[in-house]
Amino acid sequence: PTQTLSQMIAASVVTHAKRPALEFFGAVTTYRELGEQIERAAEGLRRLGVTKGDRVALVLPNCPQHVVAFYAALRLGAIVIEHNPLYTGRELRHQFEDHGARVAIVWDKVVDTIAGFPADVGIEHIVSVDITQALPLLKRLALRLPVAKARQSRSRLTGTPRTAPAQTWKKLLDHRRVSRRVAGPALDDIALLQYTSGTTGSPKAAILTHSALRANAMQGRAWVPGLKDGAEVFYGVLPLFHAYGLTLCLTFAMSIGAKLVLFPTFDVGLVVAAAKTSPPTFLPAVPPIYDRLAAAAERGDVDLSTVRFAISGAMSLPAETVERWESVTGGLLVEGYGMTETSPVALGNPMGTTRRAGTVGVPFPSTEIRVVDPDDPTVDLELGEPGELLIRGPQLFRGYWSRPDETAAALVEGGWLRTGDIATVSADGFVTIVDRIKELIITGGFNVAPSEVEHVLETHPDVMEAAVVGARKGDGSEEVVAAVVLRAGATLDVEALRDHCRSRLTAYKVPRRVVAVDDLPRSLIGKVLRREVAAQIAEREA
Ligand code: ATP
Ligand code: MG
Repeated sequence: PTQTLSQMIAASVVTHAKRPALEFFGAVTTYRELGEQIERAAEGLRRLGVTKGDRVALVLPNCPQHVVAFYAALRLGAIVIEHNPLYTGRELRHQFEDHGARVAIVWDKVVDTIAGFPADVGIEHIVSVDITQALPLLKRLALRLPVAKARQSRSRLTGTPRTAPAQTWKKLLDHRRVSRRVAGPALDDIALLQYTSGTTGSPKAAILTHSALRANAMQGRAWVPGLKDGAEVFYGVLPLFHAYGLTLCLTFAMSIGAKLVLFPTFDVGLVVAAAKTSPPTFLPAVPPIYDRLAAAAERGDVDLSTVRFAISGAMSLPAETVERWESVTGGLLVEGYGMTETSPVALGNPMGTTRRAGTVGVPFPSTEIRVVDPDDPTVDLELGEPGELLIRGPQLFRGYWSRPDETAAALVEGGWLRTGDIATVSADGFVTIVDRIKELIITGGFNVAPSEVEHVLETHPDVMEAAVVGARKGDGSEEVVAAVVLRAGATLDVEALRDHCRSRLTAYKVPRRVVAVDDLPRSLIGKVLRREVAAQIAEREA
């Protein structure tokens, strides 16, 4: 059946009524209770004036209220906008100015930030959600709060108008059910504005319909065979405010009546504690998370042998991570590929012996790909040649919110999405991601893919991690520069590292300079931010 996300959750509320839907620090919400809370919150939102097509902003870590708020807004046919609650006030304000939501449901720790936005941002109602369990996240926010506070007190002094005082989550739910007949969403309605990670520029809001998000949850089901309805335990360690977590944890879990164990942020200790009573069976994450969990399992801190399926995306998955994870859990760890614009998954490795390490697998069902000349996307390249990956499928976004030029650049003739990633396809159809076009380094007329140089550096025994970027020279050209995180006890020997590269790479790919750093800047989901690495190096050398 083709259902909206609202119909999907409603079906699970009926089918799996007594089964656990959510777990948060041991507290369980059944599907029936979840259904009731969605109704009550939807009525609360309706009384705040939310109707079909309105935008409702969520600024929440993973918590049960996040799930309720998401489905409550959809229930009214409204559009959800997800935000990273650890973003600074400035970053959040840019996004609020961009989407113009009038109603925001936010973590109580960021209420002041949102309430302090100038009146022309247009926020009319703020619902404050008190999440006492979000302590680990609070520590990370605390690093930023002093700045936000200072800015706010300044804006008060200059008399910036403030929004109406926040109401509580409890008050929002102070109803029984939606009291009027509301039409609810249609399949082609927009469900979500989902910001991209902002790895290559400022985040853009991808317009995702019910149809696209539903398609991706269904494709996910086809990808992971053997998941049993009403019997799985999903671990939500990825943020729900990112497309990856939203689909692979939330909508996917809810579509098969799974129990979703929510974590306000990834923390090994929290996973160890939860696994004692709710052993996970399905755990989507990113490579750094698998490494840390595998290490905990090797130490005997946690038993992860119940995890049958683990799915990695967002960045390339090292072979060592796969070996380590699979030997300690006995389950599968396979790599997929996607982007916010594809709801997010577009390709995945088969769940079994035919998967191929180092590749992102094959297109999802109903998904087509092409590899084209990045300078002219109408020209298809020969099989095996590296070029820009194009994608078409039911999970595609509709465009970027209020950015017609960027939409036109990304969605081209025939409904194809330009991914901005360079890929190769093998004769039997397996796709390998080489790098992002925007991050290729052009040096002396040659293209250098930073990932290739990083992989070589990371095979050196002194190097734990590397990020390779192009440093601008006075004449506008670029040169290859590497930032490395050294293993404990190692000291930086630039010439040794360059020799190591020289014996494995053509001369123009060898980093001109190598600097040691304590750690690499990463996005909240764990991607290395090469832009910031380049800025740090430039600053250091200025
Ligand atoms: P922005 O578009 O704002 O610059 P972003 O592209 O990082 O940020 P996302 O939509 O979260 O935002 O990420 C999609 C990108 O992640 C892809 O275009 C690709 O570069 C990268 N990616 C996803 N999966 C993989 C993978 N398995 N291997 C390598 N890269 C991947
Ligand atoms: Mg992108």
